[in-house]
Amino acid sequence: MKWSVNAGVVDTMWAMVEELFPIHRTLVNDGIRNSLELIRSSLDIAIHEFPSGMHVWDWIIPEAWNVNQAYIADLSGRKLVDFRNNNLHLAAYSCPFQGRLTKAELLEHIWTLPDQPDAIPYRTLYYKENQWRFCLAHDELSLFNDDDQYEVCIDVDLRPGKLCVGEFVLPGKTDKEIWLTSYLCHPSLANDNLSGVALAVSVMKTLASMPDRQYSYRLLLWPESIGATTYLASHEQILEKVVGGYVFTCCGDAGPITYKKSYFGNTLIDQAALHALRYADRGNYSIRDFWLNGSDEQKFNAPGVRLPFGSFMRTPYSEFPEYHTSKDNLSFISKDQLAEILSVVLKALFIADTNRIYEPLYKGEPFLSKHGLHRQVDLKRPDRKSLAYIQRVLTMETDGHNSLLDIANKWDYHFDDILDESIIFSQAGLFKALN
Ligand code: ZN
Repeated sequence: MKWSVNAGVVDTMWAMVEELFPIHRTLVNDGIRNSLELIRSSLDIAIHEFPSGMHVWDWIIPEAWNVNQAYIADLSGRKLVDFRNNNLHLAAYSCPFQGRLTKAELLEHIWTLPDQPDAIPYRTLYYKENQWRFCLAHDELSLFNDDDQYEVCIDVDLRPGKLCVGEFVLPGKTDKEIWLTSYLCHPSLANDNLSGVALAVSVMKTLASMPDRQYSYRLLLWPESIGATTYLASHEQILEKVVGGYVFTCCGDAGPITYKKSYFGNTLIDQAALHALRYADRGNYSIRDFWLNGSDEQKFNAPGVRLPFGSFMRTPYSEFPEYHTSKDNLSFISKDQLAEILSVVLKALFIADTNRIYEPLYKGEPFLSKHGLHRQVDLKRPDRKSLAYIQRVLTMETDGHNSLLDIANKWDYHFDDILDESIIFSQAGLFKALN
């Protein structure tokens, strides 16, 4: 049974993005927990907690940062900028502040994007102390007059809390694992990163409904970077079981589907992704070698972990102008674009999961007629697409070393053609699976 997209899963995926969008999230806060609890209504994830101050390899889990209110008001009390209207207005991890400032003083604490004057930037002050910034659309600077003063209120709680990780484990026939991850520390941004979260959950929901999975699968959702490091540092004992995995990010925009290869570049998870894209019923896709300054794939591929993790996305982060701005909103992504990448990811996972190495249970060539499998090849005009030809390829290549994917790639067949015929050979008692 091939793994394919279910329309119900696509609808749930989109509903999840819409529900998660307004929630205020950061590295450690109530919003990230609330988001995981909301996801739990769709997939029964466990939520693990790790305390602020915990040392995780070379890092320390930060304190929780929750916003009660944050605004800039004129002296009549009229709020000119209000966190309640848009949670991008306050840079994450700004310190508490209350005071009266001139426009010139205020401007030193405001970030805008002069090149995109109607977009609010998304910025953070992670691991910086005693700093605060508001983020505004550049056009909003016209709200302030040179001669006036303004009341600034940043009422935030910065105190020890718990970093939350959402996890779902789907056992397979073996305990070798493929991991599916995304991060959900961004506030109201759609492509980066809710599209990746919803896609990862939808992939896992689909896998859970499919029979006969070879690998075990582990879904992990966490705050980017520190969440991955926290989990890896706390689970070193299971890393040897991990075959590899995919990081999902920026999956909902209109750009071509992009696959970022793992550090190794040619592992099973890479080859499966490349094959799925090449044979997807579409021509427009992009394959990129591993690059630096990425998301959690940096942590997985890094020394000390060195696991092959690639990344599925559409337009790579930082290459679309809406990236990390208020324009990365629900209208920037679409359900159809998410459904399309879901289909490719499921194809890649199906290939990885069913890619067998068979050993022939005969020497030389098999006597196919005896097994009721003989098909005649037209020797004058051999048809490469015929099952007879595929039989010849399989009997030449199946040697206990070449995998089905190796054979499909070498002879330029769709993986499914090679898989289907090899299953027939296996059922006839001619092949024995080694993995
Ligand atoms: Zn981001």
